[in-house]
Amino acid sequence: MKSIKFISIIIIPLLVLGLWSIFSKSQAVDAGRLNQSIFQDSTKNKGKNMSDKIVKSEDEWKKELTPDQYYVLRQKGTERPFTGEYNDHKEKGVYKCAACGNILFESDTKFDSDCGWPSYFSPLAEDRVIYREDKSHGMVRTEVMCAKCEGHLGHIFDDGPDPTGLRYCINSVSLKFEKKED
Ligand SMILES: [Zn+2]
Repeated sequence: MKSIKFISIIIIPLLVLGLWSIFSKSQAVDAGRLNQSIFQDSTKNKGKNMSDKIVKSEDEWKKELTPDQYYVLRQKGTERPFTGEYNDHKEKGVYKCAACGNILFESDTKFDSDCGWPSYFSPLAEDRVIYREDKSHGMVRTEVMCAKCEGHLGHIFDDGPDPTGLRYCINSVSLKFEKKED
């Protein structure tokens, strides 16, 4: 009887302590794993964390877009300066991607740049666009693309106005304006 009492006094608390330490350790490991996976995901998806990314074949795009839209959005062409529909456009609203409808820019960020293309000092949100180095035409520029369908929009330059000092120089043909309802 004495030995049973000894076991229950000494062994049981030790057992409980042991179980508790194993349990709390496994929780710590799980929390670590969770933090790591969130970090990895946000790094991997930086700038392209739009959950419904659109991937279509070039044939599908060719069918859906006008020849001008296809030339600019899919073949990274550039419309002639001062010819685009939205170059002098001043209405209140939002500018969506002409290929996929992703809302890219707001009229409040549009400014007169006199460069011949619609210009904005920032996108609606940083996750709406993605950037890529463009070394074509003997220049090093930064290309701006739609984050959802990777359609070519234009280029970004650092000679824009406050508050960002940036100029998103965008082809009208890549955009579709939607007027703000009063
Ligand atoms: Zn798009």
